[in-house]
Amino acid sequence: MNNRTILTNSALYRFKIGAFDAIAVSDGQVAFPAYPTYAPNAAKESVERSLKENFMPTDLYTLNFNALFVDTGRHKVLLDTGAGKELGTQLGRLASNLNVAGVEPEQIDTVILSHGHPDHIGGLITDEALLRFPNAQHFIAEAEWQFWTAEHISFGGMRIDDNFKQVFINAARTQLKPLAKRVTLFRPDCELVPGIHAVSAPGHTPGHCAILVSSGNAQLLHAADTFHNQAFDLDHPDWATAFDLEPDRAQETRLRLLDRSVADRTLLMAYHMPFPGIGHVRFKQGRYEWMPTPWLFEQQAAIAA
Ligand SMILES: [Zn+2]
Repeated sequence: MNNRTILTNSALYRFKIGAFDAIAVSDGQVAFPAYPTYAPNAAKESVERSLKENFMPTDLYTLNFNALFVDTGRHKVLLDTGAGKELGTQLGRLASNLNVAGVEPEQIDTVILSHGHPDHIGGLITDEALLRFPNAQHFIAEAEWQFWTAEHISFGGMRIDDNFKQVFINAARTQLKPLAKRVTLFRPDCELVPGIHAVSAPGHTPGHCAILVSSGNAQLLHAADTFHNQAFDLDHPDWATAFDLEPDRAQETRLRLLDRSVADRTLLMAYHMPFPGIGHVRFKQGRYEWMPTPWLFEQQAAIAA
């Protein structure tokens, strides 16, 4: 026996989006105090009731971190890079999990950042201060880049303490600054590479984007941090998280994407939902409901809409 950590369950989920090969890749899991991390604008009793209704513990909520790799045939695309070493040892497993999937960093030619939080950008730079994905074109929304590379970062409606704010600032300096000459800035809504569109989804951060992956008639909308948890964000889309910079705008975006998903029956993915974080949303008796995609052991198209 060696000392390698053996995960009990897979940290990879392979599936198809039309003709594209996709893999949901976990960067790890971290438990946070459920309240007030996820619903600081709600009453504690209401949050605990919602968690109980969803068969979840009421003290700690285990947050997932689900990146997405897509091989379109023309491009090998990674959506978000995990936390690297910015947020402790529970996270930063994306690169080793990609390795298990047979994907090496050098093979990735497109890295798309949904936004500038440490759990999404922390895997950009290696311990040697080199680009982890040296052959990739890196994309981030112009508004997001300007916000996190500004001299002074204002945390607006975010409800986190000063120490945690400093973690966000440090991650932006460490991970984004070395990209300055390599980054491609964009204004959503636009196509980044064939079949991959950035969809404006502001509020969580100023330039926060969802990513729409399209192949033939198949689509997957990676909503990034528009949703964190079915108990908070679908049962109560008016509840903010402590990490929303502009909670009201984040709520508008959440409702817009939820309604779009219900109307179009779009397959959704969310960075922080229970792994692999893929499913549909339906609206029943006045409530949004999360319908996780069934686990399939053969890589095939997700259930048709
Ligand atoms: Zn996040």
